[in-house]
Amino acid sequence: MERELDYDIVVIGCGVAGTAAALSAAETAKEEGKDLQIALLERADFDHRGGNSRWTASYMRMKNIDEVADNFVRDMMVFSDNYSDQKYIETLAANAGKTLRWVQEKGVDFDYLPTMFLTSSKPRLLPVGGGRAIIDTLSRRASALGVEIIYEATVWDMKLDEDGAVNGISVRVKGGSSLHLNVGSVIIAAGGFQGNQEMMSKYIGRDAHKIRTVCEGGLFNKGEAIRLAMDIGAKGAGQFDSFHAEPVDPRSKREEAAVMTYPYAILVDKNGKRFVDEGITTIDEQYEAVARKIFYDLPDHIAYMISDQKMFDIPNYEQALETDKPAIEANTLEELAAKIEVPADQLVATVESFNAACQPGEFHFDKKDGKQAIGITPPKSNWAIPIDQGPFIAYPIVCSNVFTNGGIATDTNGRVLSQDDYPIPGMYAAGETAGLYYGKYPGGTSVLRGLVYGRRAGKHAVSYVSNLEKLQV
Ligand SMILES: Cc1cc2nc3c(=O)[nH]c(=O)nc-3n(C[C@H](O)[C@H](O)[C@H](O)COP(=O)(O)OP(=O)(O)OC[C@H]3O[C@@H](n4cnc5c(N)ncnc54)[C@H](O)[C@@H]3O)c2cc1C
Repeated sequence: MERELDYDIVVIGCGVAGTAAALSAAETAKEEGKDLQIALLERADFDHRGGNSRWTASYMRMKNIDEVADNFVRDMMVFSDNYSDQKYIETLAANAGKTLRWVQEKGVDFDYLPTMFLTSSKPRLLPVGGGRAIIDTLSRRASALGVEIIYEATVWDMKLDEDGAVNGISVRVKGGSSLHLNVGSVIIAAGGFQGNQEMMSKYIGRDAHKIRTVCEGGLFNKGEAIRLAMDIGAKGAGQFDSFHAEPVDPRSKREEAAVMTYPYAILVDKNGKRFVDEGITTIDEQYEAVARKIFYDLPDHIAYMISDQKMFDIPNYEQALETDKPAIEANTLEELAAKIEVPADQLVATVESFNAACQPGEFHFDKKDGKQAIGITPPKSNWAIPIDQGPFIAYPIVCSNVFTNGGIATDTNGRVLSQDDYPIPGMYAAGETAGLYYGKYPGGTSVLRGLVYGRRAGKHAVSYVSNLEKLQV
């Protein structure tokens, strides 16, 4: 019996994953001569659409537009302690270049633009105009091919038919009423659960409500699509109790108010004590661990970067300070301590013992220079220069949540898997909604995998709904 469909394919979420999925589905349908009704549903209004993607600079772990960085697959596996799905990552690596060429063809330029990492272990390619340029370009192309983009439409429920295939969704629209749509296939690209305090506390734990999202975009990602998929049989994947963390200035309201200059300084807790080797390695490889330590180990979840006027001699230091708030400055360490409400005697003692431990050697801001501070706990492995040239400066730093790691398990076509590892017919997921990461985040891979798997899911969904039509004739 033929089923009346409102849409053949519905994509949930207007970030990089959702716009890639919608455009890929529309292009595939056109190439194959299929007349499909495709909709993209987005919780936010037009001016706020795009969740995290709207705000990211979108660094990509690419050697050039065609090739992923060296050791891409191995690094992703090692960082996850081998918990990530290797086939998924190999498929990501094999399709990254082709997918970026596809995005480029649509009108997005790529370049090696300045980043906030003054030292880095891997190259980072960027789309000119960041994630916003990607979603604007891909969504415009999708609209031109007939994709209906509907704003202020939040998907909150999903139904399966008697054979276990997706056949309907419930959508809450502006004003609060809800409608049911009959659909052939759903691609969930609705981000993680960082905007949902209840899920944050359930999975991340105590005080999770105190972890701010790194920008307002994350607040739209409330995790209901992950929950509802799991409620109807989807398997979870990714480390549910963890998230990608970044150190930011709590005074700033701007997106990604990062403080990435601390490797050239020291970090102290609110008692004025150091707690970490600030120069352990290049900033891109260590900022997440430091941000997490600030949240999990420090009183009141806060740290302070302490430095002096030499900070302002570091070439391009402004690139590494994305906060829009100025340094807290004082002529003496005692005055600085008073301003940041840290015990003065302890801060002075910490700085004096650090200064005495700094070893001779040449300081190089742009590479691991081996200029250490030793004989103190913790030691500092690189960039140890005495803090002695007032006025002294401080930046407060807290941990922010870039995205959550827990999501839905998918195969290499973006099909959502059941607990028994069978694809759930008609259900796809891409981007943050699809669980992937464990342990340490391999920087520059989240936008990339959103694009690659959004595109793959869109293409596969067309073949799925086309075969559905055949079955129903
Ligand atoms: C400031 C910042 C910097 C970053 N830097 C980088 C970087 O350099 N490199 C990198 O790779 N990654 C980076 N990331 C991470 C990366 O940007 C995101 O992980 C990625 O863009 C997520 O894309 P997405 O499409 O999965 O989700 P999002 O872009 O978050 O989109 C999800 C969309 O779904 C919508 N939505 C949510 N729930 C529903 C619902 N129930 N119904 C309808 N719509 C819904 C949301 O409103 C949103 O528009 C950064 C993130 C931020 C915030």
